[in-house]
This record gives sequence, structure tokens and C-alpha cells, in this order.
Amino acid sequence: MTTPTLPISPTRASTLTTNLTSILTRISSATTTTPKNPIRLVAVSKLKPANDILALHTPPHSHLHFGENYLQELLAKAALLPQTINWHFIGALQTNKCRPLAEQVGNLWCVESVDSVKKAEELDKGRGRLWEKDGEEAGKWKGVKLRVCVQVNTSGEAEKSGVPPSEAASLCRHVREKCARLRLQGVMTIGAIARSQGVKAGEENVDFLTLREVRDTVVRELGLQEGELELSMGMSEDFESAIRCGSDEVRVGSTIFGERPPRQDAKVKEEVEEGKS
Ligand SMILES: *Cc1c(COP(=O)(O)O)cnc(C)c1O
Repeated sequence: MTTPTLPISPTRASTLTTNLTSILTRISSATTTTPKNPIRLVAVSKLKPANDILALHTPPHSHLHFGENYLQELLAKAALLPQTINWHFIGALQTNKCRPLAEQVGNLWCVESVDSVKKAEELDKGRGRLWEKDGEEAGKWKGVKLRVCVQVNTSGEAEKSGVPPSEAASLCRHVREKCARLRLQGVMTIGAIARSQGVKAGEENVDFLTLREVRDTVVRELGLQEGELELSMGMSEDFESAIRCGSDEVRVGSTIFGERPPRQDAKVKEEVEEGKS
């Protein structure tokens, strides 16, 4: 693999480094109990250029986990960036995009937005095709299971994806028992931002409490070990509350990378003008 040529201006690199440091500090301050594993920060880079990602993936941070929402954008960025990145697909998932997603991005670390049996099966098939491929490149991923989270619509908002809480256990069971090339990592919610904004001191967003209950129910119904299923919850506005509710993974975008451009203006790769760094 060739070294990517993705210029980054020192000013931009320094802004990103400062922002990431600040989020990591806030994560550790919000962590009052000692978690089994450190809380994972997924830096949500959707609609932001690959240059920004590379800046954080290189020292001093060497950050590993990045989140994307759109298949085409992820494919383009994954092709430009080192395979040492652990990609997370966190966006609304379309059934017909599942196979290419699981097949074409070997270093896809987790698909967090699985909300139907059909989508789980398509991801499983896609991963199977990747395992069958020959050659040194594809060979690296042979036998490497694709992690998935079941997305739960804890707020009941019509525009949010996810299964209702009552259907989470059966989808989780399906993934574990019928999808040999997937590994059930946990459950995920977005939650209603209004609920995070509306909580008073000492209270938490009920969506986070609901997801924790869903997780505990799934663990019980499927006879899993305690701690076997993760909670992926918390974004820029509410990750500290999510951590207080037991989140294992937070997904933070705009507080690290700044406001996102409208989708039609987003650039996969930023050209930095000569002499203008
Ligand atoms: C965009 C997005 C995020 C990050 O949102 P910010 O508010 O920018 O931190 C997290 N999770 C999901 C599912 C997203 O789509």
C-alpha cells in the first residue's frame, strides 16, 4: 500500500489534536467507576475529508476508531487511508448496501446500525464473500468476523432507525445463532437529543437507561456472560451522560471535527494549496 498523500495544514492538525485531547479528558472525568475496558471513542468523521482522519490517525494521537455514515464515502476514504484504521459504520443501513459494505472494507471493525434479520444476513453473506477471496490482500481478513451492534430505537421517534426494545433480543439471538461470520458486539442507540437537553442536574437521558435495560434483558434471555455485550451510546451533546449510564463506546463528531458541511459540499479529500499550509 502506498503512503497516502493527504496534505494537512499545521493549523488544522493542531486544532484537531487539541479537540481530541479535550474529548479524551472529558471522557476520563465522566468515568467515575472503573470500566473493564477503557471507553472507546469513535471519532465520527462523516462529511469530513480523509486528510482530517489521517491527521488524527498519525502521532501524537494515533487514533484508531473512526465512524462513517455513508457507504460510498466510506469506500472512498478506506481506499485512501491506511488499513490500520478501525472503521465503524454507524449510519442508517440499507439492505442492498450490506453486502458491499461487509465485502469491500476488510478493516471495517463494526457495523453498529443493524436493525433487521435481512440486513444481518446480507452482512453475513458479504463477509463470507470476502473470506472466499484469494490473494494476499483479501487473505488478511479470512476468518475475521465482522462485529455488529443491534440498533435499538429507544425514543420511539418515527424518523430514527432501530428495532423497538421488545424485539432486540430476538435479533441478537439471530445474529449469534445464524450468522457465523458476524460477532455480536452490543447494542446501540442514538436517543432523542431533546431528552438530553431537557434533563435536569442529577438526572440522565432515559434513552440511555432504556438501552441499558435492553442490554441486560438480552444478556439474561440469551444466557450470556455479564459484560459480554457493549453499550454504544452518547454523541457530542450527551456523551458524558451516556458514560454515567454505563456506555462502553461513545461516538463523537462535531466536537472534534467542527460543524459538518451539507452533504453535497462534502469532500472526501482536501487539496491544500501549494505554499498555503
Ligand atoms: C453523526 C452521528 C454521530 C456524531 O454526532 P455529533 O453530534 O456530531 O457528535 C454519532 N452517532 C451517529 C449514529 C451519527 O449519525
